[in-house]
Amino acid sequence: METADSRKVFKAGEFIIKQGDPGESAYIIEEGKVEIRYTDSEGRTRVLGTRGANAMIGEMAIIDNAPRTATIVALEDSKLLEITKDDFARRLEHADSVLKMATQVILTRYRDTLTRAEIWGERYQWPPAEMVELGYAETTDAVQTITIANEFRDALLSKFVQLYYQPIISLSSGEITGFEALMRWNHPKKGFISPAIFIPVAEESGLIIEASKWALREACLALKRIEAAVKPKEKLYMSVNFSSADFSSDDFIGSVYNTISETDVAAEQVHLEITERVLIQQPDRAKETLRMCRKAGMGIAIDDFGTGYSSLSYLHYFPIDTLKIDQSFVRDMHKNEHSLALVNSIVTLGKNMRMITVAEGVEAKEEAHKLREMGCELAQGYLFAKPMSEADLIERIKLWAPFKF
Ligand code: C2E
Ligand code: CA
Ligand code: CA
Repeated sequence: METADSRKVFKAGEFIIKQGDPGESAYIIEEGKVEIRYTDSEGRTRVLGTRGANAMIGEMAIIDNAPRTATIVALEDSKLLEITKDDFARRLEHADSVLKMATQVILTRYRDTLTRAEIWGERYQWPPAEMVELGYAETTDAVQTITIANEFRDALLSKFVQLYYQPIISLSSGEITGFEALMRWNHPKKGFISPAIFIPVAEESGLIIEASKWALREACLALKRIEAAVKPKEKLYMSVNFSSADFSSDDFIGSVYNTISETDVAAEQVHLEITERVLIQQPDRAKETLRMCRKAGMGIAIDDFGTGYSSLSYLHYFPIDTLKIDQSFVRDMHKNEHSLALVNSIVTLGKNMRMITVAEGVEAKEEAHKLREMGCELAQGYLFAKPMSEADLIERIKLWAPFKF
């Protein structure tokens, strides 16, 4: 390695940063290409990605004092501009006061975001009890995420990730009209891991794109098998969850079309569930993608409706046909008049906008009654059925008697 000022040249194959070493410097790649690797507690090493010119690597070194969470190796002869912690602090010291303050605030938030909010979402307690039980909370936050992401990637390939299906019931007939596909990770050592743990990590690491593709295909194939086994009078539908990252992927629409045609389900039988976040984050892209999905015949449902953004104007802008009322309102309906009023307003809004409303998390008969009175069309919840495996679902449908209200 030669040093010229604060520039360093690393030969192909040379280590730039070693996992576990103390962090002193970040680098900006001026020329060349590097690879980021992570070795888990069982000694397996994975490539997390590559970076080329103009990328910054090892930036955590100038933010905190934790050991390096990954190894970075030069893939080709690379020229890097080194920024040491001291150098960074000195530059900041001499910066204009607004720039200084803004940078400090941004760095503090970046660190917090990386470790907590962005990964787990504000709705999850930190560290979630399940994480402590699973033994993930012992390591540093960044390593936890990488560990879970790596284990999840393996699980996806080795069929430890499965789909469970929860029936969606018509409140007028008491019959099953469709299902929601929900991912389950059955870890060989840790048992079932909640989607509340692994979905945010899959989103964070980009694995969600692969996972969603798999889920859509698997759910469509399952729908065909279920129909063949139970021979329903009316066509059933399958609702599949998608995240923001899915919508950013260039081949999203092509891949959805392919899956539907290859699995031979009718597009009308496929519903996409998205949250308002997807729409707000990339409105133009989402609008175009959803328009194409609707045109092909698929249904579009807004999940957790009522918990997101207050502006309702987006309902006009996007081609949505279903609102799924968040379970927190449904759960509180019979003891909290505000929740009751909210559910009522959503059902009315749905009617006025010619949308279907689905109540989620229905656990009590009184809730189902009230919802039916209000004119809510569909419901889903433990009162009717919990999410279950395909085999259990088939047995359940065969024995299903229209739900009596
Ligand atoms: P969600 O899409 O809102 O799914 C509904 C959740 O409510 C499911 O939790 C379901 O098991 C649970 N649930 C249904 N009925 C009741 C009830 O009566 N009472 C109670 N207490 N809970 C009920 P689950 O399966 O743990 O999934 C949690 C979240 O993880 C989902 O919330 C969804 O946001 C995400 N998720 C699950 N599978 C996938 C997937 O394949 N892709 C994506 N992107 N997200 C997924
Ligand atoms: Ca959902
Ligand atoms: Ca929901």
